[in-house]
Amino acid sequence: MAASSATLLHSSSSSFAASRFLPFIFRRNILLRCDFRQLHRFSSTSGSSILLSKRFKLPGASVYAQAKRDVEVASAADLYFESPLEIVEYPDPILRAKNKRIDTFDDNLKKLVDEMFDIMYKTDGIGLSAPQVGLNVQLMVFNPVGERGEGEEIVLVNPRVTKYSKKMVLFDEGCLSFPGIYADVKRPESVKIDARDVTGVRFAFSLSELPARVFQHEFDHLQGVLFFDRMTNEVLDRVRPQLQALEKKYEDKTGQPSPERIDTFKVEKVPVGFGTR
Ligand SMILES: [Zn+2]
Repeated sequence: MAASSATLLHSSSSSFAASRFLPFIFRRNILLRCDFRQLHRFSSTSGSSILLSKRFKLPGASVYAQAKRDVEVASAADLYFESPLEIVEYPDPILRAKNKRIDTFDDNLKKLVDEMFDIMYKTDGIGLSAPQVGLNVQLMVFNPVGERGEGEEIVLVNPRVTKYSKKMVLFDEGCLSFPGIYADVKRPESVKIDARDVTGVRFAFSLSELPARVFQHEFDHLQGVLFFDRMTNEVLDRVRPQLQALEKKYEDKTGQPSPERIDTFKVEKVPVGFGTR
């Protein structure tokens, strides 16, 4: 997976160094905690495994369904939260609800981002989306190194995917909303993205390897797509009992029937890489 990633990247080391956007320092042969609480070894064949560039040209048209901009704008109420944040677990319907676009870049948003990083580190995550803490807005945070003070903290507001690689790779994913569940999911190896930062400044970049994986997982959350939606039947069968246990836990906690059931779930072809259900 790492070996071919360089072909998709358009920066040289020097342009990378000059970039204002240096979210990722991808070290050679580093052990990274992948998606949540698992260790995966990545080896980069190139010392300059450049993960992003802001200089590529974005396509003129929105190329994917998810790029539609007619998403409703979040109100102050949509962005209201109480501290400390708590992780929303499957099958809470919040994880399937529509996520609104953010157009207010204020101190409340900064505080939300800080608190999302806090709970992400506390729960040994490397990525977290706003619906996972109960806010249905287009916001994600991640740090592929997963340690405070190491790697880079990335904040993406209203992200869009503008391009993705044809090459697909399998990867063992976890999710903070599915504690203890890990399974293979196939996704494009690299993506091009545009987004706003926490101050509202728009920027674009490319991701590959683990950061691309984390981004795509979190991006799916912003479309109401969960990682088991992308598993094959065989993989899903293996984690089915754990998903049913989460449904039971939800029913016991809320007194409500589970809003979705894995025993009636049919694996559909979710549009490649991204897209809505
Ligand atoms: Zn997740």
